[in-house]
Amino acid sequence: MSELAKYVRVAIDQDGCISCGACIEVCPYDALEFDENMKARLIWEKCHDDFSCIESCPVNVIYRVDEAPEELKTEKAGWYRIGRELTPEEQKAFEEWRQKYGVQVDPVQ
Ligand code: SF4
Repeated sequence: MSELAKYVRVAIDQDGCISCGACIEVCPYDALEFDENMKARLIWEKCHDDFSCIESCPVNVIYRVDEAPEELKTEKAGWYRIGRELTPEEQKAFEEWRQKYGVQVDPVQ
């Protein structure tokens, strides 16, 4: 099984993000970045379930994916991207993650 398959990861409600940068600062895996609108975004394959970003966010807009509001996973695009080309095995892990947690929005290209 791919290492990447075991992580839950986080989802970010960018509508509430105030661009403070706390989550980006605290993540030990550099799995968060600002997008072109200065909203926090997850780099999918870098997230290894540290979850300190959740605690760091002053406006509580970061969720474990398994605890995220459904609309965030099904309607709100833009909160995650894939940072590099995935191997076929990793791609499979990604598809399984989407299926398992009901993530219907596509990653940002
Ligand atoms: S900690 Fe919260 S408000 Fe600050 S950049 Fe991250 S998601 Fe946005």
